[in-house]
Amino acid sequence: MQKGDRALIKKMNQQLVLRLIQSRGPIARRDIARMSGLSPASVTGITGEMIELGFVKEAGKIENEDRAGRRAIKLQLNPEAGYAVGVLLAKYKFTCVLTDLDANILHSDMYELPVNESLDIPYDPEAISQAISHAIDSLLKQAKIKTDQLMGIGIGINGIVDYEAGVSIFAPHYNWHNVPLAASIAEYFGIPVHLENDARSLTIAEQLFGVGRDVDHFVAVAVGYGIGAGIVTNGQIYRGGSGGAGEFGHIVLQEDGPLCSCGKFGCLESLASVPAIFRQIEAAIASGETTTLADVKPLSLKAVTTAVKEGDAVAIRVVAEAGCWLGKGMATLVNILNPQSFIINGEAVCLGKHFLEPMEIAIRKFAFDGLSDSFRIVTEPGGTEVWAQGVASVVLNSLFASNDYDRLM
Ligand SMILES: [Zn+2]
Repeated sequence: MQKGDRALIKKMNQQLVLRLIQSRGPIARRDIARMSGLSPASVTGITGEMIELGFVKEAGKIENEDRAGRRAIKLQLNPEAGYAVGVLLAKYKFTCVLTDLDANILHSDMYELPVNESLDIPYDPEAISQAISHAIDSLLKQAKIKTDQLMGIGIGINGIVDYEAGVSIFAPHYNWHNVPLAASIAEYFGIPVHLENDARSLTIAEQLFGVGRDVDHFVAVAVGYGIGAGIVTNGQIYRGGSGGAGEFGHIVLQEDGPLCSCGKFGCLESLASVPAIFRQIEAAIASGETTTLADVKPLSLKAVTTAVKEGDAVAIRVVAEAGCWLGKGMATLVNILNPQSFIINGEAVCLGKHFLEPMEIAIRKFAFDGLSDSFRIVTEPGGTEVWAQGVASVVLNSLFASNDYDRLM
């Protein structure tokens, strides 16, 4: 065996052990050995190194003794051993959070995105990259964390992302094509920067720290001002051939339907997103229907949610129709991916049962018969902070699962 091969195998074993401690901890060494297939001696060696470096700590004793009569000491990740930054880019603003290794949010801030309407591209990538760098600087300063304590920076953005290259291939929010956003920020800080699709970031957070923790096949559907999905199959995030997997909001369900943000007509997003709900309510008002929302200008998600809860017939009908369209789209995901779970998150979750029940009825109605009861649905309310936390999880995921492990050792 070549020296390089041995080093690679050692590194892979270290990742495997760390991932088990992260996902199953507190966990005893003998369970790590059993689950990883590594020898108890290797596990003792690897975990010893991690404890010495401070990334893993012992977490008390468990009651049952092993055959030799020894009490097994469980191991867990030391959350304070390192930090990650997550930056979530939305249409007009961005959220920046600092988390520990367990994705707990320590600091969080929101900023306006710089816009210069006089430019051909009002969202100038250079200006935005500088704004992000300054925001991170100020976040670190407030938290009294130095750059060398950071494991990396994650940036979440809508649209199609080349994760490996750190390039935004297409970001509809900003009309960006092929913007290498990660490189300039990585150069500024001198640490790894991971650019990821926003919905996929949230999916990675669910997989590492949320309800997707022990699920091998799930889809996290984000429904708010846009609609996207993150897909996990065989325990792995699925990015697709060119980083575009999960553009679920842009499957066309109604030919000649409403104009979508992507420029096409009748996409799911144009039928079931929050702006789609606003548009339908405005159309009902314009056609003379009576609703408590007639005097609310501009419409807000909060106002629609209140109207639905108070029994406003127009709001309830429109929200239910949107839920039904969403369920129809999700039925297609059931037939193609056969997920064990759907995790629904995003702003629209606050619309509650009037949105989610028609969605569920439609999935079960339109999915292939043998599959219509094969999944469970979990809803997760969450604001932009949770999304930014998801983006920080992209950094943590790369530590636990890929070749950035050197930053730990
Ligand atoms: Zn579209």
